[in-house]
Amino acid sequence: MSQQNFDVVVIGGGPGGYVAAIRAAQLGLKTACVEKRKTLGGTCLNVGCIPSKALLEISHKFHDANHQFEKLGIAVSKPKIDVKKLIENKNEIVKGLTGGIAGLFKKNKVTSIEGLGSFVDKNTIEVTKEDGSKEKISSKYFIIATGSEVTNLPGVELDEKVIISSTGALDLEKVPGKMIVIGAGVIGLEMASVWSRFGAEIEVIEFLDKITPAMDAEVSRNFQRILEKDGFKFRLSTKVVSVKKDKKGATVEVESVKDGSKETLTADVVLVAIGRRPNTEKLGLENVGIKTNQRGFIENHHLKTSVDNIYVIGDVTTGPMLAHKAEDEGVAAAEMIAGQAGHVNYDVIPNVIYTYPEIASVGKTEEELKAAGVEYKVGKFSMMANSRARATFDEQGFVKILACAKTDRVLGAHIIAREAGNTIHEVAVVMEFGGSSEDLARTCHAHPTYNEAVKEAAMAVEKRQIHS
Ligand SMILES: Cc1cc2nc3c(=O)[nH]c(=O)nc-3n(C[C@H](O)[C@H](O)[C@H](O)COP(=O)(O)OP(=O)(O)OC[C@H]3O[C@@H](n4cnc5c(N)ncnc54)[C@H](O)[C@@H]3O)c2cc1C
Repeated sequence: MSQQNFDVVVIGGGPGGYVAAIRAAQLGLKTACVEKRKTLGGTCLNVGCIPSKALLEISHKFHDANHQFEKLGIAVSKPKIDVKKLIENKNEIVKGLTGGIAGLFKKNKVTSIEGLGSFVDKNTIEVTKEDGSKEKISSKYFIIATGSEVTNLPGVELDEKVIISSTGALDLEKVPGKMIVIGAGVIGLEMASVWSRFGAEIEVIEFLDKITPAMDAEVSRNFQRILEKDGFKFRLSTKVVSVKKDKKGATVEVESVKDGSKETLTADVVLVAIGRRPNTEKLGLENVGIKTNQRGFIENHHLKTSVDNIYVIGDVTTGPMLAHKAEDEGVAAAEMIAGQAGHVNYDVIPNVIYTYPEIASVGKTEEELKAAGVEYKVGKFSMMANSRARATFDEQGFVKILACAKTDRVLGAHIIAREAGNTIHEVAVVMEFGGSSEDLARTCHAHPTYNEAVKEAAMAVEKRQIHS
């Protein structure tokens, strides 16, 4: 059994892990990244952010060709979707990007090791390869970046064809006639949006009484209305009792949370999208004395676990399960190991839902500010009054800026708009600098842009918006 020695070994090659490895190598540390998959990039590149956005983009184009072109004066024959080609295109995009990370590792001299990493002691892991062979690797520091996996409902068998997770939803062989989505969170709604735009009938079942529960309530209500206008049906306050495969597809037995009444629904495909759970299986945490919390996450203090040379980042630790949060933690952990002052500002992590229109937020919601007893002012501007949105038929949505009533410091922003996921970043930068709504309002914005709605919303904080 051979043994290699490193300064830093990162376990997991997702956006947290590969970014941590590259940053550690940039800082002159001898670094390796251990990944059990054949390709790098983790959930994000293989079965998450990137493939889902590839499908969403194509579904928007298809939808436009079907429903918008005529309105715009473009005559085309009725478009058809070739699902095989759609999935092949998505796979090509994934292949290109995951291969790109291998290239970045070479460029930055990160040693890439394929296999499952498991702690032997605080300075050693054992890597088990696909063929069963094992290799011991020692290191001064470790960064756990093992990410997360799909959470399933108890007693439900995912065959990834009829009863599917988000992974199966990225690889369907045909457009389902009807899709039931269990869980009205970001991933479920994004995947439902894809297949809805290709023609599937969508029914979403949610245990809580609102969709995307962590979101600003006004945004959540408007988002639900927009999806309903697009044909989504929602059953809120509804519990799933069972999901069973049958000859035609699947049946879902549901029960009302309010009155206990039961109903049986049928669908061609059932997407279980109730969340993700941290991935700590076979990691050998017991050999180093690291415990997980009640929900299975490894907790951290400034990204350190309870063992001083072992750090933890990304989905496997606490905080939002987002690729960019994982990346920023990866950079911070590597910098701290190198003796620098790595830092992540958890108050300014943008959150985006890539439906049409997009939903984006950063900072506090109104509900959070109320609960904390913070006095705040609201500036709102409708996309109906934004000239670019009018010119491109993208009038749905609004920008809402929340600013401190005493200091005018921007505390949060919530946007429903085409390209909201890009637009949100100007507010994020202002928040990073501790800026005010007046800073946003007095910054000259190019015309005509969707971002002008941010400026107008900021002006509306002092009720001096021009265009509404
Ligand atoms: C359908 C879908 C869409 C999403 N869309 C977005 C989005 O638009 N934006 C966004 O920010 N986030 C999105 N996410 C979430 C995002 O993918 C995750 O937050 C992100 O991938 C977390 O990064 P990570 O590095 O912590 O973990 P992961 O990406 O999960 O990577 C962990 C890696 O560790 C490997 N691993 C696990 N255990 C071991 C071990 N013992 N040894 C070796 N390797 C191991 C795994 O194989 C995996 O490759 C989406 C997720 C899904 C499922």
